[in-house]
Amino acid sequence: MTIFEKIVAGEIPCNKVLENDEFLAFHDINPIAPIHVLIIPKQCVKDFEEVSGEIMAKLTLFTQEVTKHLGLDKKGYRLVTNIGNDGGQEVPHLHFHLLGGGKLSWGNLAKK
Ligand code: 5GP
Repeated sequence: MTIFEKIVAGEIPCNKVLENDEFLAFHDINPIAPIHVLIIPKQCVKDFEEVSGEIMAKLTLFTQEVTKHLGLDKKGYRLVTNIGNDGGQEVPHLHFHLLGGGKLSWGNLAKK
C-alpha cells in the first residue's frame, strides 16, 4: 500500500484542497513552490505510463476545478508528473504536482 493510498483511506491525514468520488487534491508535505498541491486518482495507478485515457480525461476536468478553486487558472501554474527512476518518482501512485503562487523558474534539470 502506498502512502497515498493510506491518505485516501484516511489512515494518514492530509491538508485537503478538493475531492470527489474518484480524485483527491491535497497540499504537498514538502512544498517547492508557494502553492504545491498533489492531484491523485483514488484508485492506485502506478504512473502516467499505466493510466487510461478515460481516467486522464476525468482527471483533467478535476485538475481544472482545482486550479479555479485556488485562483491559479488566470495567473498560471505548472503541472508535472514524475515517472520512474529517471523521472525521480518517489511514490508509485500516479500524481500530478500542481505548482504555482509565484513566477516559477525553469532550466536544465539534468546533465547529459
Ligand atoms: P514524487 O517524487 O513521487 O513525484 O513526489 C512525491 C511527493 O509526495 C513529494 O513531493 C513529497 O513531498 C510528497 N509526499 C510524500 N509523503 C507525503 C505525505 O505523507 N503527505 C503529503 N501531503 N505529501 C507527501
